[in-house]
Amino acid sequence: MSDTHGSDSRERGFGTRAVHAGQSFDPTTGAVIPPVHFSTTYAQDGIGGLRQGYEYGRSGNPTRTALETQLAALEGAQHALSFSSGLAAEDALLRAALAPGDEVLLGNDVYGGTYRLLSRVLGGWGVKLRVVDMSDLDAVAAAIAERAPQIVWVETPSNPMLRITDIAGLARLGHDAGALVVVDNTFASPALQQPLALGADVVVHSTTKYLGGHSDVVGGALVLNDDALYEKAKFLQFAVGAVSGPLDAWLTTRGIKTLELRMRRHSESAQRIAEHLSADPRVAAVHYPGLPGHPGHALAASQMSGFGGIVSLELADAAAARRFAESTRLFQLAESLGGVESLMNYPDEMTHASVRGTELAVPERLVRLSVGIESVEDLLADLDAALAGL
Ligand SMILES: *Cc1c(COP(=O)(O)O)cnc(C)c1O
Repeated sequence: MSDTHGSDSRERGFGTRAVHAGQSFDPTTGAVIPPVHFSTTYAQDGIGGLRQGYEYGRSGNPTRTALETQLAALEGAQHALSFSSGLAAEDALLRAALAPGDEVLLGNDVYGGTYRLLSRVLGGWGVKLRVVDMSDLDAVAAAIAERAPQIVWVETPSNPMLRITDIAGLARLGHDAGALVVVDNTFASPALQQPLALGADVVVHSTTKYLGGHSDVVGGALVLNDDALYEKAKFLQFAVGAVSGPLDAWLTTRGIKTLELRMRRHSESAQRIAEHLSADPRVAAVHYPGLPGHPGHALAASQMSGFGGIVSLELADAAAARRFAESTRLFQLAESLGGVESLMNYPDEMTHASVRGTELAVPERLVRLSVGIESVEDLLADLDAALAGL
């Protein structure tokens, strides 16, 4: 039996772990792809006689277990938990780690939904929030010196400004103050960045994006090593119930098998596009960590193994940005990112509408591209045609 679970899977290469971890063939039939387990309940061999611990679909499901094993292996971690969305994963983590009166120190351009969850949901339960530019470690140190938070929460590269934060440096600052250091690794994915290895305590993913990779399943995950925090979050996963459904878990597992290949292609094409747009006088600014002029370029090169598939650009003004966003044909105007198809986003009114007028507001002349895996010449031609129409 090819057992790809357990500690030895951590020593294998990333591509091997992505394909095999949690994916042992079905022992009954030999099916190379494990079946999708739709059953909501499990027959007991006498009262309490559970087979492999499975009892009821909210508390556990073999297809979800397979995904959780795979997710943990991708980051060489002890534990992973899979949820029905990225925000459900975040909610479980925040409630597992915080008590009323506790404070979260948050990056100033995190995902708008994270800010909304903290400010408008958990805020009502006494959780406090402070915002700082995490790419500026002096500013972070000053904020921590003023008052130690319980959690330091960062996204790097950030959304949509693509700022880069020094994860190892941030982890040291956070740990000196006794804080839990959380990295939302959605943009880089584990194929390009391994925050736990850099010193972070917990990784959060919206698996809706690159991990799933095909824009056909919403999901989220927590990946961590701490046993006690894992048990608390797992209890909330069970007691609150925002679990991945079996088909969602299976689709995510299938997506993950090609993650490394996709991320390489996303990164190569995004680099070409960022360089091309930088040379265009109609484009006021390009934000991409792969560009040598990007303020976080050297840092990104040292803590990531590729610069990712997201490129943001600024046009002359808001009107030009809106016109540009509405005139590409291959880049479809839609929320979300990380799928095989290229997407165009106007953050101010789409993904970041919930942070308009707050300290997380984004420039009105900014558009964000999620560069897909199509032929890059076609993507360049599409962008050029849209620029020509301005
Ligand atoms: C999409 C996203 C989330 C939220 O995930 P959902 O799956 O939509 O709940 C969190 N963080 C980042 C960086 C995201 O892009």
